[in-house]
Amino acid sequence: RGDSKVADKTVDSVCPYCGVGCQLTYHIKDDEILFVEGRDGPSNQNRLCVKGRFGFDYPRHPSRLTVPLVRREGVPKGLDPAFDPAKPLSHFREANWDEALDLAAKGLVELKDAHGPDALAGFGSAKCSNEEAWLFQKLVRTGFGSNHVDHCTRLCHASSVAALMECIGSGAVTASFMQALEADVVILTGCNPTVNHPVAATFFKQAAKRGTRLIVIDPRGQALGAYAHKALRFTPGSDVSLFNAMLNVIVTEELYDQTYIDAHTEGFEALKEHVRDLTPEAMAESCGVSAEEIRAVAREYANADKAMIFWGMGISQHVHGTDNARCLISLALACGQTGRPGTGLHPLRGQNNVQGASDAGLIPMVMPDYQPVSDAQVRSAFEELWNTKLDDKPGLTVVEIMEAINAGTIKGMYIQGENPAMSDPDLDHARAALAKLEHLVVQDLFVTETAQFADVILPASAWPEKDGTVTNTNRQVQMGRQAMPLPGEAKPDWWIIQEIAKRFGLPWNYRHPREVFAEMTHGMPSLDHISWERLEREDSVTYPCPADDAPGADVVFSDAFPTASGRAKFSPTLPLPPDEPIDGDYPTVLTTGRQLEHWHTGSMTRRARVLDDLEPEAVASLAPSELRRLGLEPGDPVSITTRRGQITLRTRADSLMPEGMVFVPFCYAEAAANILTNPALDPYGKIPEFKYAACRLTRAEAR
Ligand code: SF4
Repeated sequence: RGDSKVADKTVDSVCPYCGVGCQLTYHIKDDEILFVEGRDGPSNQNRLCVKGRFGFDYPRHPSRLTVPLVRREGVPKGLDPAFDPAKPLSHFREANWDEALDLAAKGLVELKDAHGPDALAGFGSAKCSNEEAWLFQKLVRTGFGSNHVDHCTRLCHASSVAALMECIGSGAVTASFMQALEADVVILTGCNPTVNHPVAATFFKQAAKRGTRLIVIDPRGQALGAYAHKALRFTPGSDVSLFNAMLNVIVTEELYDQTYIDAHTEGFEALKEHVRDLTPEAMAESCGVSAEEIRAVAREYANADKAMIFWGMGISQHVHGTDNARCLISLALACGQTGRPGTGLHPLRGQNNVQGASDAGLIPMVMPDYQPVSDAQVRSAFEELWNTKLDDKPGLTVVEIMEAINAGTIKGMYIQGENPAMSDPDLDHARAALAKLEHLVVQDLFVTETAQFADVILPASAWPEKDGTVTNTNRQVQMGRQAMPLPGEAKPDWWIIQEIAKRFGLPWNYRHPREVFAEMTHGMPSLDHISWERLEREDSVTYPCPADDAPGADVVFSDAFPTASGRAKFSPTLPLPPDEPIDGDYPTVLTTGRQLEHWHTGSMTRRARVLDDLEPEAVASLAPSELRRLGLEPGDPVSITTRRGQITLRTRADSLMPEGMVFVPFCYAEAAANILTNPALDPYGKIPEFKYAACRLTRAEAR
């Protein structure tokens, strides 16, 4: 804090990492961030976690891209084994902006002219602002001419959104996580907030201390278990069985809320019939949880006056991810646990702007605000807004786009701020697809693993270098402000997207993100009564918002759901096994995820000095008993092999891990976890099964 004496200015903004959306203040001296403090935002009340507090120096990392790069003639595409960000890049040469933009757009335009709109696709980014997401999807839809636009929501909560849209007509949370402070019972399942939503976790702890009964349901243990009233550790992949057994208890013991069901739902009689045989006794063995424990948790949730369910990617990243979410929604609807303070359904959103990027239309089957591209009325409204014709076919999703590249139908891509060469499942396959592209434009801060496959690399803006809005997990639209200048010749993302659009012949002339936001308010009813000027004044406004001078709704759907009938729908599910069950050859369950100190593919946090010093190396977390069984000590190297590949890394003893399971974070390029993961998709959300792959562990040679 002594540094505050030398700061010459402060700038209020928002954390660039997770979906909690903590408001913060940058303390600046000579255009450099000295330190960061939390502000009294609605989702953080002055708190920050280690990433928000210490992960601010990545924009000035020596490997930051500051000039456009163009691939040298004849250099083959692929990961450069000798790649060293500290050395001059052998595969690329520097170019000026005009040359780079002309080359970037020309390659895409030529492919479109030769093969049609379906030959192109784009990945936008949940790390960018709402305005940048809006422009990116608009470019793909109106310039490329297709709906092949997606982003990392496909890899995190696409299945949750699919279930929520189907059952309650809205993909966002029904109540903020602050409502946990009002709840009598909170179920946390398939999430690990202390690691992934750390400031939200502090509110769960606060709620527990005030008397809220936390029930943690997860195969792995976690730090919040110390605050939990109950913890159910079930067999990985048996979620649907467990939740159906809870529904069975609620039905057979008549713990449901008939008044709520009659007033607000449809399909309950079918659900009752469906779960009749899915008793706790019938499900106990496959779940690895006793029937009595299942009954106790079901009763506790159903009998609570106010209860909430929070979930994360342990629910969504399965081939039955949508079914998992359908079950959780059924639990809430059966017990009347939505629409009141202290009740609700809350998928904890991952990236800082995955909610906003999804709202703004970075999704292939829907226009902004989840309006189907197949709906003629929806298309007609956007055609009028954008003065163009739109494709009526839903586009391809992230993994489907990779498959289409391999099949030769997609030939060119524009990737803004995403890193599929690290984040996609079955990386060898995904990287082979990227290498096959005839033209790839990557817009990013660094030469990421994906950028190494590019024909043209465009140097973009880091979050503290731009003005823009983001939307957090609580539906709070928040204002981010530029705190420091762009380095070298790097440019704002919105400017780069516009320059590409102009080269597609689009008459764009935005001069600032506020003009983009103004356009968004004409296509997104969710932004009614939210303006750039209001956000500048108030910093954060929750949607939906009923009036220019009213606060937004923290809890929604008190009277009706946004469905055709105004009612929510029960969607019965049947237990499905994981796509790749363990067997004699691959006897251990591999699960992947994030670490507290690192963010997603590590492109930012591994270049943040404090964070990378705290966690500098990939580790495989195993139960101490599992290590003993394998004859390994903590720190010993281990090879992990799946049907798709092998990585080698050190072991870490973690008493919260169950036996028979290994956890690997996916942010380390040198031991990329996604070389191992299974690309099998949930059929509804099209999300891969990152949370379950069969693997084999073997002692490795010391490196
Ligand atoms: Fe940033 Fe999330 Fe940490 Fe808050 S909890 S400081 S938003 S990473």
